[in-house]
Amino acid sequence: EAKSAGRDSFKVYEQTRPERSVNKLTLLEEMRTGIENGEFFLEYQPQYNLVSGRIVGAEALVRWQHPALGRMMPGEFITLAEESGLIVPLGRWVTREACRQNKEWQESGLMPITVGVNVSARQFRDDGLISDVRDALEETGLAATYLELELTESLLIKNADQAVGLMDDFRRLGVKLAIDDFGTGYSSLAALKSFPLTRLKIDRSFISDLDFDESDRCIAKAIISLGRELGLCVVAEGVETAKQQAFLASCRCEVVQGYHFGRPMAARKFGKLLAMTLTPLDAHFG
Ligand code: C2E
Ligand code: MG
Ligand code: MG
Ligand code: MG
Repeated sequence: EAKSAGRDSFKVYEQTRPERSVNKLTLLEEMRTGIENGEFFLEYQPQYNLVSGRIVGAEALVRWQHPALGRMMPGEFITLAEESGLIVPLGRWVTREACRQNKEWQESGLMPITVGVNVSARQFRDDGLISDVRDALEETGLAATYLELELTESLLIKNADQAVGLMDDFRRLGVKLAIDDFGTGYSSLAALKSFPLTRLKIDRSFISDLDFDESDRCIAKAIISLGRELGLCVVAEGVETAKQQAFLASCRCEVVQGYHFGRPMAARKFGKLLAMTLTPLDAHFG
């Protein structure tokens, strides 16, 4: 029982098994060995160009196949990984694996796409991040332009002084940079201008109520035009309905991602989807 297990316990939940709690320290130790034993894997969620209907990217999302607890989602272990610092070796693995997989798709003749990797504040503060990314690119042979790092607004604002310098280093390396969950943190619009970004991802909290919330429609529309004026590619996350898609198209949003188009999926399945993308997804894009 979660309550009686006390403050050392960590709540674990998943649809396919009853909620249970595990000891935080145990889970931490298991995470450490799990990284070494290859228990983590990535799923890829497609991103579509709203005009052409073609896949232009994939967001890599980490999952943990825990030997006893089953499949765990980031919400169940990322915070613990961040607090403990394990996010650094885990993130290093995620980056390398996403690059390797993307290179493999390119080698098999599929249309080149960008793969997005999430970077948390703890990783961003780590001195080794840039060399980890450089190593991942060199070792896998992926061209830097096909890798995008997703940074959150709060991460950038909190580390504003160092952030611009580090981001410049990444841009020089040729890596793309996105601001994730845009609109949820302190949106210093002035700061947005000084960050060398390539993409802006509108948080799904603004997208989910588009169909019935007039103020969310105004906000989404404003963010899209702001992004466009700043020369950024704007991505809407969490698109779940055709109505939301139509609204975003009317605002000339460039890229969409969400359950309406495809859930995060295994690499093999994503490869098959990509193989069919020479013909646009007719069901959604007439
Ligand atoms: P995020 O970067 O904002 O990723 C998008 C999340 O929204 C994913 O959840 C995705 O499955 C979910 N999503 C996508 N489309 C829809 C939709 O239409 N409706 C709804 N309701 N949800 C949608 P997921 O995979 O559980 O990841 C949650 C968060 O965990 C991510 O949010 C990201 O912040 C973090 N995360 C995931 N993988 C990594 C990683 O490799 N490293 C780090 N540092 N963080 C990660
Ligand atoms: Mg993300
Ligand atoms: Mg997001
Ligand atoms: Mg997020």
